[in-house]
Amino acid sequence: MAANPTVLYPPPERDNSSAPSAKLLTVDNVNLEYRTRERIVRATHQVSFDVYGGDRFVLLGPSGCGKSTLLKAVAGFIEPVAGTIQIDGKPVQGPGADRIVVFQEFDQLPPWKTVLQNVAFPLRVAKKLSRAEARERALHFLDKVGLAAFADAYPHTLSGGMKQRVAIARALAMQPRVLLMDEPFAALDALTRRKMQEELLRLWDEASFTLLFVTHSIEEALIVGNRILLLTPHPGRVRAELNSHQFTKDSSGRSDFQQSVARIHRLLFDDTEAVQ
Ligand code: ADP
Ligand code: MG
Repeated sequence: MAANPTVLYPPPERDNSSAPSAKLLTVDNVNLEYRTRERIVRATHQVSFDVYGGDRFVLLGPSGCGKSTLLKAVAGFIEPVAGTIQIDGKPVQGPGADRIVVFQEFDQLPPWKTVLQNVAFPLRVAKKLSRAEARERALHFLDKVGLAAFADAYPHTLSGGMKQRVAIARALAMQPRVLLMDEPFAALDALTRRKMQEELLRLWDEASFTLLFVTHSIEEALIVGNRILLLTPHPGRVRAELNSHQFTKDSSGRSDFQQSVARIHRLLFDDTEAVQ
């Protein structure tokens, strides 16, 4: 039986109070499966959620619960076996420049292109910008992630954190309807990870984009997200949806933050009552 999701907080207040945010992405009762010759692996079961413009929406759950699979389905790489995914009211049919993914791996940048070329190339191909326009926009976003001075460097000369910054600049330069991030900081050391979380929030303040962010870290979810969807272990079902806009990068020492961490931990791992 599918558990009824627990709503832990009142419905979220939107960040831009001047205009009500529009529903941007709708995931409705989505089942995702992998079919191999021997068997069918169900990755998610009847997952539903809505993402509104300007949200920092986090998918949080243990390893193997289907977070990456969900993100790939939103990106258009995998088709649901049941349920629907819509963006701006239209069904997702394959990948598109309105949804750009930043992955965990540091090797997502073609190594034969400089940093600038890495960011500018998709702008020329997908956005049909002229060489000069692509260069200008690429430099603008490289500057935003603090890497303008490294425009002519090759990826192998950069640290892991710097490579992720390039990948983020490349994604933001495309100005997608929704930026998809799959554990983008999970392979970084703890200090760099914290710094990147802060930078992402600063970029969100400046560039005001919509984010769908995957993590298995409860703390990261609370810091990065304004809304969090908790998924049960494999196959992923919605366990709860909660509001976390009250926490910022400086909240982690606060007692209410620690209480939320403990509560989410219980929901994810200890409380079996609604998880079959
Ligand atoms: P998460 O990102 O939450 O760790 P995934 O979405 O990667 O989880 O995987 C969800 C489930 O689907 C897991 O049980 C995993 O083993 C399975 N899975 C993922 N990729 C494949 C694949 N290519 N073929 C078969 N099973 C897969
Ligand atoms: Mg994953």
